[in-house]
Amino acid sequence: MTGAGAELVLRSTRVITPEGARAACVAVADGRITAVTPHDAPPPPGARLVDYGDAALLPGLVDTHVHINDPGRTAWEGFATATRAAAAGGITTVLDMPLNSVPPTTTPAHLAVKRDTAAGRVHVDTGFWGGAVPGNTGDLKSLHEAGVFGFKCFLSPSGVEEFPELAPDELAAAMAEIAGFGGLLIAHAEDPGHLAAAPPADGSVRYADFLASRPPAAETEAVALLIRLARRLDARVHVLHLSSADTLPLIAEAKASGVRITAETCPHFLTLTAEEVPDGATEFKCCPPIREAANQDSLWAGLADGVIDCVVSDHSPCTADLKVPDFGAAWGGIASLQLGLPAVWTAARARGLGLPDVARWMATAPAQLAGLAGRKGAIAPGHDADFAVFDPEATFTVDPAALHHRNPVTAYAGRTLRGVVLATWLRGRRTAEHGQVTERAGKLLERTAPPT
Ligand SMILES: [Zn+2]
Repeated sequence: MTGAGAELVLRSTRVITPEGARAACVAVADGRITAVTPHDAPPPPGARLVDYGDAALLPGLVDTHVHINDPGRTAWEGFATATRAAAAGGITTVLDMPLNSVPPTTTPAHLAVKRDTAAGRVHVDTGFWGGAVPGNTGDLKSLHEAGVFGFKCFLSPSGVEEFPELAPDELAAAMAEIAGFGGLLIAHAEDPGHLAAAPPADGSVRYADFLASRPPAAETEAVALLIRLARRLDARVHVLHLSSADTLPLIAEAKASGVRITAETCPHFLTLTAEEVPDGATEFKCCPPIREAANQDSLWAGLADGVIDCVVSDHSPCTADLKVPDFGAAWGGIASLQLGLPAVWTAARARGLGLPDVARWMATAPAQLAGLAGRKGAIAPGHDADFAVFDPEATFTVDPAALHHRNPVTAYAGRTLRGVVLATWLRGRRTAEHGQVTERAGKLLERTAPPT
């Protein structure tokens, strides 16, 4: 009630709790939230009070979809740079994807390499997804026991040869194995047959050609397969970076009928449209692609009604030279780790949605996906004292030079966004302020409890 024993109290007229926004004080001891008390409650004796006035206090964001590419493709990104960008952007927990690093995280030995590489270099709490690839079904259980949060697979080529896609029979075998030990399969859902049948975008500077090469039907077909298998195997499945809203009726029906399926979408699908991509602007290329404005409206509806659970970055950078002005040849991936919160908030606010919605999509739901509910992703007693202090009214224009990720190529360059991250707190320590990262306090995370 009083936050007795607190070392630190953060005060704001807009604390975003699971019950909504309220004026409150948040008491912290030993890196955890001990109490959420009335705004006018006096701080306990000896506690340090930090009063953020009318700035919003959000739970630190949980970004479960980040490609850090370290070791192996460290010219593209790395643990220090990616997590510095995350901290500056109000993110306090990231989960690293198993591919684009060399080695990929497909065996316990490879996971150990990842952990050794990341140790001592992370500015936010960092965990790892494993990978399900042809031939490693026998490694999945030991990877699970070694602490990965789940297993990523592709249904179509991944873009890197060391991380091949699963054929449908291999997908079923991996899903059955993972379901057998209570794990989670996360999938890049584009059907290879539909992609192969579409006209390629090779040599084209036109975004319309790229869009035609990744048709919505590829997503629909792949999601339908995942649902069929999840239903048959009673498996838990998560659809990554959903782009086509045509999939939403399938997912809604599956959820309603008890299939354990969740889905995420990304800031770029919610804020950028196919219609506005200039010729040759391959910083907008990602797979599946950014689609038309009407599709984007439907994604927002899917979020508002709960068919889509999470919004995560799919931060997937590369060196600038790989973003050639050819939509077939350019590397596909959008780098937005530091910008996701203002990008999503700008669009959410314009649609009449609130900060509690954004906190649910970008902190609470991803924490739940990763099995971190109760520990991360909410301002509530018992949770880690992770916060993003956010001025939701201020605006800024995106200057790539102010971004901390290794290659500051971004589709958001020059855009004016609403909402500025004023500070980030990780387990009761202020780790970033006004875009500058002031302390490296990240820890490596392991899956500690079965996902719920
Ligand atoms: Zn990705």
